[in-house]
Amino acid sequence: MSADCIFCKIAAGEIPAAKVYEDDQVVAFNDIAPQAPVHVLVIPRKHLASVLDVHADDTAMLGRLFAAVQHVAREKGIEGSGFRVVTNTGKDSGQVVNHLHFHVMGGKTLGHLG
Ligand code: AMP
Repeated sequence: MSADCIFCKIAAGEIPAAKVYEDDQVVAFNDIAPQAPVHVLVIPRKHLASVLDVHADDTAMLGRLFAAVQHVAREKGIEGSGFRVVTNTGKDSGQVVNHLHFHVMGGKTLGHLG
């Protein structure tokens, strides 16, 4: 846990969030400012600032994270219609929260990337 990290605090239950899924390694919750009808953030409990902090020994955690993405897609009813998984990294991407997170967005036809 990193002090002053809002997503660490959500994972620890210290800040409320509308959780969709959680297990011992991963938490998923609704984005507070949704950009699509379904907009869920999937995060590892482990504090990593971005994909740049992921190491080869994080493979088990990443597998669990994508299993959680699948769970969220099924739970939200967008598995068949399709969805987008995005992780922002650094200034040009617009990353605001420096705790690795994957946006899962769907429920409408999404615009082209870029
Ligand atoms: P990013 O720009 O990739 O860092 O995205 C950060 C996301 O976190 C944004 O979509 C925010 O709306 C979302 N967010 C920030 N604070 C909260 C919160 N307390 N609960 C849920 N989502 C949040």
